[in-house]
Amino acid sequence: MRKVLRYLNPIAHFGDKNYSVFFPLITTLLTAVILEGIFVWLLHTPNAVGLYAIFVFIVLIVYFAFREGIRGGMIAALLTIFYYLYIISSRNYTGNLLVSSLQTTATLGLLYGILAWVIGWLKQTIDSLLEREANAKKRLQMIIQQLPVGVLITDDTGEITEGNKQVELILGRKMKSGRVAGKDTIPEATYKDKPVPPSQWPLAQTLTTGKPVAGKEFILTRDDGKKRYVQISASLITNKTGNIVAAASIMTDITAQKELEERKDDFVNMASHELKTPITSMKLYTESLRSRLKHLDDRDVQKMITGIKTQTERLQSLVNDLLDVSRLQTGKLMFTPESFNLNSVIKQTITELKGTAKNHTINFNPTGSITLTADKFRIYQVLTNLITNAIKYSPPGSKITIRVKKDRKSVTVSVKDSGIGISKDQQKKVFDRLYQVTDSKEKTFPGLGMGLYISREIIRHHKGTIWVESEPSKGSTFYFTLPLN
Ligand code: ADP
Repeated sequence: MRKVLRYLNPIAHFGDKNYSVFFPLITTLLTAVILEGIFVWLLHTPNAVGLYAIFVFIVLIVYFAFREGIRGGMIAALLTIFYYLYIISSRNYTGNLLVSSLQTTATLGLLYGILAWVIGWLKQTIDSLLEREANAKKRLQMIIQQLPVGVLITDDTGEITEGNKQVELILGRKMKSGRVAGKDTIPEATYKDKPVPPSQWPLAQTLTTGKPVAGKEFILTRDDGKKRYVQISASLITNKTGNIVAAASIMTDITAQKELEERKDDFVNMASHELKTPITSMKLYTESLRSRLKHLDDRDVQKMITGIKTQTERLQSLVNDLLDVSRLQTGKLMFTPESFNLNSVIKQTITELKGTAKNHTINFNPTGSITLTADKFRIYQVLTNLITNAIKYSPPGSKITIRVKKDRKSVTVSVKDSGIGISKDQQKKVFDRLYQVTDSKEKTFPGLGMGLYISREIIRHHKGTIWVESEPSKGSTFYFTLPLN
């Protein structure tokens, strides 16, 4: 029954360009035969058919024009006129009646034709528009399907409306329609080692917060047990009036890239370990050479030994930094907290670095002692890095000021220089792994961009914060805050 109703409903055929000839033809003919049957054979009032014939056939013409386009409407109109002519001839009209009947038929024929054409044209125009829209949608779907990245689209409520093959390949499961935040859509995932509930997936997140999510990396555990690294971005799609119409996310499988990175990290880790032993031996040999040649009155030899020692120490510090970066990557950097006086550690660091300063004045006027519980060596490492940078990136003879400010809950250390400074857009990036500012002034400074990254991670581990305030050409002040308990 439903099927029959659907078949008869002209609106259900919008967008369908398979116009039928037989349906209007047969229906109009049948209607004429039925009308003739009722009025001539059943009621025996052949002349009473006129008004009904007009009303019924107008409905048929409109219906078929609306359902089958111009051709359908015209067939119905033409057959109606033939039927009218048949009525005229079969009722044996003569004289004025015949003339007026023929005139009416001609007028109605013209009207029916116009009606069929106008309605049929409207129907065909709507069909063409719908077809064009459907084609555009199909093309878009085809493009989405063949994109080399996973694409998942939901409506404004989070119900999945579109997902391509890549998403299925990445997630390792067939996409079902349903909510994107649903458990059966998204496999188990972790972000920075913490499990991610489906409601915190970028698409769900962007829908609840309204903010885009850019390139967040997840580790997925697929149903087949395989681990996949994926990078996901998501954002809302709004219409011209700013209303949310959908949310879209892009998924990229970065497993191969991550595995390569892991291999590279492993290599750096292994290489640094391998380098550590010969460097330690070199340092020991230099020390024993220095003590053996202590009495030799040859300034050049003494200078050379000091040179070897300095360079070996530089090499050792580089290798240590490399090892630290690698340990941070793998979460293996160890911390041993102890209680110590921060001011003494700062003084000690300054004393040790004075040798590398080029006529710089390093000011530090501590008052009292500040007891801190933290990894002393790591804090010393942060101080060394900040003061070394202040020396490295400021002109010889300039002033470096170190201050310590304590309040009830925390202590803040600042290292201020009057050097080349850092532009606003670089200030956050300098703490990134292996990041170095590259402008014409910077190129002359050696380094690998590891120190600030290691410092940030050390401070983060101690639940503190590190930041920089700086103005290019005027100088920089690096700050770090540590909680006191
Ligand atoms: P490195 O100094 O070995 O390159 P860091 O991680 O210590 O690596 O520093 C990262 C970058 O930050 C440096 O390359 C430099 O461009 C910038 N930078 C760090 N400290 C300062 C400073 N005091 N003044 C100006 N630029 C600095």
